[in-house]
Amino acid sequence: MKRFLFFLSLAWIAAASAAAAQVRVVTTTTDSASIVQAVGGSEVVVESLTRGSSDPHFAQAKPSMIRQAYDADLLVLIGADLEIGWLPAVLQSARNPDILPGQPGHLDLSTFVRRLEMPTGPVTRAMGHVHAKGNPHFWLDPRNGVVIARAIASRLAAIDPEHAETYKANAKAFAATIDERMAAWREAMAPLAGRKVVTKHKSLVYLADAFGFSVVTEIEPMPGVEPSAAQLKSLVATIESENVAAILVEPLYDLRPAEFLSQETGVPLAVVPQSVGALDGVDDYVGLFERIVAEIRKAGII
Ligand SMILES: [Zn+2]
Repeated sequence: MKRFLFFLSLAWIAAASAAAAQVRVVTTTTDSASIVQAVGGSEVVVESLTRGSSDPHFAQAKPSMIRQAYDADLLVLIGADLEIGWLPAVLQSARNPDILPGQPGHLDLSTFVRRLEMPTGPVTRAMGHVHAKGNPHFWLDPRNGVVIARAIASRLAAIDPEHAETYKANAKAFAATIDERMAAWREAMAPLAGRKVVTKHKSLVYLADAFGFSVVTEIEPMPGVEPSAAQLKSLVATIESENVAAILVEPLYDLRPAEFLSQETGVPLAVVPQSVGALDGVDDYVGLFERIVAEIRKAGII
């Protein structure tokens, strides 16, 4: 019995030290969390501060977020002001010096990708712009997922050099999966290439860039603002004159204006997830694009 207890306690110590050695990562979005999990495997414990069903522009700083940030070895954010409305308050309250800007525990993904829609003149949030540092929705291009995975692998390796090779190998495997699936997604999305779509928010420009279609206008006149009756009428005219192929809207928004436009014009509407967890069954980053393609197909667009 004593011997059994001895082995039991050894096992417990081993399990406890393995847990202690894991890198604790918090991300601002579920998509980044999924990529951290793919790259970090069992060497990391990762939590997202927001859920995929909510709008990352307009999250509320909550006590649970402050606790998560306090415990973290590494914070992975999208950056480009996506989280400007709430993350600074979380960081200030969490008082964790390791994850502040400039520290190894602070990874701003926007510094690694080619951002679209970089502003050319002065912009302020008061003008309704929430993309003052270029468009931050870059995770919606699978090729950027590969860039993100490499950035995460390199930062995890710096924080936890013992497992550097594991992170590098996992990022490579992740990139291979994306490359392979990208070919299939491109083939499936080919009918939409060269066509025009309408979206709710300026959030699908990277998806459009990845698959060769263009976004002709947005349904919201300003971020977070629903269109007026006059604006809806003008949108109907635009959809008809521009020969728009599809209306794509993420499930976190009010779908009624998009449904109205689809009914008025006969242009199909697809509700596409913008993040891991935005719809039931969208459980990881690769699955996000599988589902986007599936929803566009289901709507009869491709
Ligand atoms: Zn946005």
